[in-house]
Amino acid sequence: MFSEYLKSISWEETTRAIYSKREDDVKRALSRRSCSVDDFMALISPAAEPYLEEMAQLSLRYTRERFGKTMSLFIPLYLTNSCTNSCVYCGFHVSNRMKRTVLTFEEMENEYRAIKRLGPFENLLLVTGENPAVAGVEYLARALDLAKPHFSNLKIEVMPLKSEEYAYLTEHGLNGVICFQETYNRERYNIYHPRGMKSNFEWRVNAPDRMGQAGVHSIGMGALIGLEEWRTDVTMLAYHLRYLQKHYWKTKYSVNFPRMRPAENEGFQPNVVMTDKELAQLTFAMRIFDHDVDISYSTREPAAFRDNMARLGVTTMSAESKTEPGGYFSYPQALEQFHVSDERTAVEVEAALRGLGLEPVWKDWDSSFDMIANGEKRQNI
Ligand code: SF4
Repeated sequence: MFSEYLKSISWEETTRAIYSKREDDVKRALSRRSCSVDDFMALISPAAEPYLEEMAQLSLRYTRERFGKTMSLFIPLYLTNSCTNSCVYCGFHVSNRMKRTVLTFEEMENEYRAIKRLGPFENLLLVTGENPAVAGVEYLARALDLAKPHFSNLKIEVMPLKSEEYAYLTEHGLNGVICFQETYNRERYNIYHPRGMKSNFEWRVNAPDRMGQAGVHSIGMGALIGLEEWRTDVTMLAYHLRYLQKHYWKTKYSVNFPRMRPAENEGFQPNVVMTDKELAQLTFAMRIFDHDVDISYSTREPAAFRDNMARLGVTTMSAESKTEPGGYFSYPQALEQFHVSDERTAVEVEAALRGLGLEPVWKDWDSSFDMIANGEKRQNI
């Protein structure tokens, strides 16, 4: 499990190593076709800042080689804002007095149909807070069953599950799971996640292992930028990615670096602010480090910045997102988890991407692949 591997990596030494990188380390990393985590550290270090243009060109080249000019589009649907956790940076935390909503199955279907009216979305991400009593595995299975006729690629971003639960949901059409670690700083993790299931660092950090064991096709990972030293957190993410690729090599991976935005409770302000330039540097570094990983940007990022980065390394984007449950049809005025920056419609995002010479992709997975994958799994049992 990755938690064991992580014990061998010191947070403090990693931070020191990143800040001790020099120009030669950056040049060496840029000259390599295949980069190590140590090279990645050089590319995200302050020493690489003068090489941003060179990094952008390299990132563009690798992205074109692997992904062509495509940009995969997806949309999230929040099924509930009910949560038993107390993440200090989130408006949905358990002690926040607010109206909690759990979509009924009928409401879900209305949302699915409303989303299809926004654009030809085929990639749907179902999101919940963490409250298994009201939105547990059976609830998710039903949500997937109902979504299947409308969408060809179904992902979830929910509480970490057991391996057998992930496997069970794949039988209901699940294709991918996203679970952000938020921060890999074991010592300080509980400052941000003091109570509830999410306070268990090991359970969360090992969730991708359990997804890999269950044969989930696509695993999404991320660090929440704003909690701890971002360079160290994304280096841990790079270690995690390499570890998973080695152990679950058939799986597709995606990474995301959401920058914290003000929560509705307005209590928590980010400890660390990442500038646009730094996010660009990180995106280029990740692409140079891993030519195949999907790099995903959400609507947390402003439209102009998303458009700029769309050509230079990003391969997946959300569009027209609502971050409150039932935001497309049932409860458009509910409290949102975070405020989006890019408020363009899906059609406007599509047009902007085409204007940049890119090819927006609404569908990049077909449910018949699920049948093949499930058939393979059954044969292997
Ligand atoms: S970040 Fe997720 S788990 Fe934490 S309080 Fe918000 S909804 Fe709950």
